[in-house]
Amino acid sequence: MIKTKKQGLLIVLSGPSGSGKNTVCDEVKKNNKNIWESISMTSRKPRKGEIDGKSYYFVTEEEFKKNIEDDNMLEYAKFAGNYYGTPKKNIQKHLDNGEDVILVIEIQGALQIKQKISHALFVFLLPPSMKELKRRLIDRNTESSSKVMERFERAYKEINELSKYNYVIVNDNVKDAAKKLESIILAERCRVDRIEEVFLDTLEEKIHETLVDKDLENKPINLNKM
Ligand code: 5GP
Repeated sequence: MIKTKKQGLLIVLSGPSGSGKNTVCDEVKKNNKNIWESISMTSRKPRKGEIDGKSYYFVTEEEFKKNIEDDNMLEYAKFAGNYYGTPKKNIQKHLDNGEDVILVIEIQGALQIKQKISHALFVFLLPPSMKELKRRLIDRNTESSSKVMERFERAYKEINELSKYNYVIVNDNVKDAAKKLESIILAERCRVDRIEEVFLDTLEEKIHETLVDKDLENKPINLNKM
């Protein structure tokens, strides 16, 4: 009865370092094969076990800056002394294929996307407490203690940006948090402004060419014009 817009959703999953964004995203992807996760670019050095082109595209700072200059990045931010950003390449293709695209990024970058694509879906992941966030950052054992403190202090400031997001999820349990994110995505897919056409019966008689004014809300995303 209903034909929805062909383009997939752009989902921005954000939150302080240590809030569990990647773990929750991995859990959601397990049950949702139609979600494609963008691979970020970073000037940070690879950690043990990280694979270039899978965990991140690892580049030098000079290479990163060249990508900014060449307008290849949808967003980028400097975080704990390193550059991180989302390459535009590939995202358009996956959205146009009807796949939902998820970006797992920190707050400054998320807010840049909000400026450009205000109707993307913005979800903020919170740790259950700041004490727990600190424990997770320390237990990860991936950073020096000064870098851990830098990430922790930044988290306090970042939480102030919560009101700019559409949804918030407290990650006290990965499975529950993932279930909430899946529900949010499902609800978003059912939004009226994603409906393109409504058909009356099995003969597929069209009753509305366009249900919602296309010039309003959910315009198709075109990264080439940004
Ligand atoms: P980490 O060094 O722990 O891998 O990442 C540090 C922070 O950068 C995390 O909060 C992570 O989510 C964020 N991050 C990863 N990729 C991107 C990206 O493409 N853009 C932005 N703005 N942040 C990112």
